[in-house]
Amino acid sequence: MDQQSPRTAGSLDPADWNEFLAVAHRAMDDAVRRIGSLRDEPVWRPMPEGVRQSFQSPLPTDPQPLADIYREVMEDVIPHAMGNVHPRFWGWYMGAGDLTGALADFLAGVDGSNLGGGDTAAALVDRQVTDWIRQMMGFPDGASAALVSGGSGANLIGLAAARNAKAGVDLREYGLEAMPQSLAFYASDQVHNCHDKAMNLLGLGHRALRRVQTGPDFRIEIDALRQQVTADRRAGIRPACVIATAGTTNTGSVDDLTAIADFCRDEGLWLHIDGCIGALLAISPKGAALVRGLDRADSLALDLHKWLHAPFDVGCILIRDRGLHLSTFSEDAEFLVRSERGLAAGEFLYNYTLETTRGFRALKIWMMLKHHGVARFGALIDRNLDQARMLGLMVASDPALELLAPVATSVVCFRYNPGGIEEADLNALNRELLLRLQETGVAAPSGTTVRDRYALRAAFCNHRTEMRDLDMLVAAVREIGATLRDEMTLGQTVMT
Ligand SMILES: *Cc1c(COP(=O)(O)O)cnc(C)c1O
Repeated sequence: MDQQSPRTAGSLDPADWNEFLAVAHRAMDDAVRRIGSLRDEPVWRPMPEGVRQSFQSPLPTDPQPLADIYREVMEDVIPHAMGNVHPRFWGWYMGAGDLTGALADFLAGVDGSNLGGGDTAAALVDRQVTDWIRQMMGFPDGASAALVSGGSGANLIGLAAARNAKAGVDLREYGLEAMPQSLAFYASDQVHNCHDKAMNLLGLGHRALRRVQTGPDFRIEIDALRQQVTADRRAGIRPACVIATAGTTNTGSVDDLTAIADFCRDEGLWLHIDGCIGALLAISPKGAALVRGLDRADSLALDLHKWLHAPFDVGCILIRDRGLHLSTFSEDAEFLVRSERGLAAGEFLYNYTLETTRGFRALKIWMMLKHHGVARFGALIDRNLDQARMLGLMVASDPALELLAPVATSVVCFRYNPGGIEEADLNALNRELLLRLQETGVAAPSGTTVRDRYALRAAFCNHRTEMRDLDMLVAAVREIGATLRDEMTLGQTVMT
């Protein structure tokens, strides 16, 4: 096709459609092949300085051929990804991706549906997906739901609804100053830091979030919770909401949801459950019992880019009382009035979230659930639970390794500790061990601190992990650990 064709000169569409297709086909072939041969690649590789520098290039003013840009992506960007798609990535907590979901993201992007509103099939897909999620979580018919960017956004929405419901004043109309009493929220000392962010953004401040101590199982102590609530009431503060965690980030522990739900019912408190990690245990045959009580929440935040492995980013908030959800987020606008017929006849979905415009995240969940079936996801979660339990047993039976927290779900916190090393040195040794392990590319756990002890933390949220991968992890930890111990004895290692 003629480059100067008036048909294309004025738009962003390809000047040469065949050239575009050739690059697009190659990108698809490369991507599928790459995912098929991940196991032979390092999980992660340190980035050469030259690659780092390549991202300092000047603002492009003139067009460049797509094939050249694709080459750059393949040389500089793709090889230096996070690695979470790799079978031996167990860092932090995130899903391992899925080609069906990625294909959906491509399709959603091409046709550009804006889920803010409109009478579109995309909006109906969104409503169907959120209803499926509601069913997966055992929430009642009529509860409301919205897909958001992830768990942080989902938690913020749930806590905003809790705040407005318990403020004792029409907060949307009159603001925080009109509140008769200040509010208090409660969570365990293991709560995710996105709740601190939420407390800040909601105008309540970090201190309004009471951190209640956890026991040796890293679950909130109900007696301590009760004492704190009582003390706050006596001090003229209004207890508003308990944030229970179903799957803490640090150790994977699950708060006693049934006991907390009973407590909230008796005390008239809102129950918000942060289920970013563990809510999806509800669809797993072995895990469902661990999250009994999940369906009693007033609001529940979960993450589909964790145990459902949807490409980033997508989370979900469920709120039992649809009216309260809408009264927290819906606002009128003269340019957004629903019509009887035509494009504006659909429900305005922006009334459920912070965003007005939002992308068609629902398509990936819709296609993934149809393609794999929910039972398959449940079985994969079961396998991750087995893997965590197995690694826990391997660690417990190895004299050079030490488990630092009970394995409650899918997270294993442990360290290299062959005996005879001081506590402070153990922290330094394990910190260095983790860095070397990541640099070898063999496996990528992350690190954390459990009750002041530095831990290697393997979180199993990965549908590609096999049992033999655990053997590789343990062997590598033992080997690097022994090297470090020897270096330390000789005073060679400078550890920070
Ligand atoms: C991951 C996580 C979050 C935050 O979710 P994002 O999707 O990363 O925003 C919140 N709470 C818990 C318990 C988590 O594990």
